[in-house]
Amino acid sequence: MASAAVSWFGDAMNAVPLRKSEVMPQGERVVTILGATGSIGQSTVDLVRRSNGRFRIEALTAHSNVAELAKLSRELGATYAAIADEALYQDLKDALAGSGIEVGAGEGALVEAALRPANWVMAAMSGAAGLKPAMAAAGRGQIVALANKECLVCAGEVFMRHAAANNATVLPVDSEHNAIFQALGAGQPEHLVRIILTASGGPFRTATREQIETATVEQALKHPNWSMGRKITIDSATMFNKALEIIEAFHLFELRTDQIDVLVHPQSIIHGLVEFADRSVVAQMGAPDMRTPIAHCLAWPERIEGPATQLDLAKLGQLTFEAPDPVRFPALRLVREALELGGAAPTVLNAANEVAVAAFLDRKIPFGGIARLVEATLEMMVRGGTAGAPANVEDALAVDHTARNTAATLLPEIALKAS
Ligand code: NAD
Ligand code: MG
Repeated sequence: MASAAVSWFGDAMNAVPLRKSEVMPQGERVVTILGATGSIGQSTVDLVRRSNGRFRIEALTAHSNVAELAKLSRELGATYAAIADEALYQDLKDALAGSGIEVGAGEGALVEAALRPANWVMAAMSGAAGLKPAMAAAGRGQIVALANKECLVCAGEVFMRHAAANNATVLPVDSEHNAIFQALGAGQPEHLVRIILTASGGPFRTATREQIETATVEQALKHPNWSMGRKITIDSATMFNKALEIIEAFHLFELRTDQIDVLVHPQSIIHGLVEFADRSVVAQMGAPDMRTPIAHCLAWPERIEGPATQLDLAKLGQLTFEAPDPVRFPALRLVREALELGGAAPTVLNAANEVAVAAFLDRKIPFGGIARLVEATLEMMVRGGTAGAPANVEDALAVDHTARNTAATLLPEIALKAS
């Protein structure tokens, strides 16, 4: 593969990265967590706590939760703590007074956190806001454990090119992509036929179109299997999460879109599958607990003990599968169209979805309005031929900005119009 310093194939199971001696100084892994107070951040912290000092913490960041960021920074002995909200600088400084921990606030401080001398950075901020810090981390040529899928959806080519140019190693944290990473190790690129991303189907898997249209915030936030942040939980309910994951896989593994399939698997035990030319299908399984893929990335290329429940297939009895339904879940149709359109379409899709999810959580649009807002924004910005492919981060963020504004202007119309 051209873009990452890791070969996904063949050696991935034996875990021999191309630059092992450089990326894995014997015995010491120095960790920075961007988005330490979030769901993925906390799971990473949990693994660090259990590791008996194997990992040293360099920097931690959060959006606005000063108390939690200060508590974690003291407990884990971070050298730098950054809060995104500039107005909270003094609060964080006060909370860390006497600790010797350096403090920063604002966007620049998040980038500074990413630039600190860690050799393993967890990119777990949510949304396109995570792009600049993740780019900064990749620019240092170390390991970036990438949870922030929006970063790849917003600027996939730009990010992967930047990582490759700086010899960074991008490890997929997202459970499906982590599964694919593990399964790819069983073969060689020339024998890969396709990958299959599994999807739980979310809380509305068996709901009718009408029920989905009018679903409440409370219903949409009740994910059957996974406990996650609010944005991704709503994305799971609309299946925009899987749509974003198709784009994520497209960039991470450099596949054609027709090599990426989606399979609904309500139990979330099989996380991803890879089919090779001889029709062997290699899958990765585990209880639905993000600490498993995070542990895989944290110790990679080694393995550490994971705290997830041990898989008991006999107790589970059966695993079931269904074809995804692009009619009830238009996200699955829209993502294929966006990839087909190419250029800035995925960036626009991601930005419009972020605006739509926030508007739904604010009860400004119905659940069914999320996909309609994304489609209307794509229609206005891309199908009319106004948005070219982003060539760099500034470009991607400019498209992201314009798409957010466009989506915001379309909001009132979507709010009024039922399906
Ligand atoms: P979360 O909302 O629980 O946490 C997000 C973290 O980022 C928090 O620490 C928050 O303070 C910080 N943050 C949010 N907005 C910010 C901003 N504008 N500036 C600076 N910091 C900001 O989210 P999460 O569920 O942990 O997800 C994080 C990322 O990982 C997302 O991209 C998500 O798609 C991806 N992911 C999550 C899961 C999961 O199980 N939670 C699984 C796969 C992928
Ligand atoms: Mg996932």
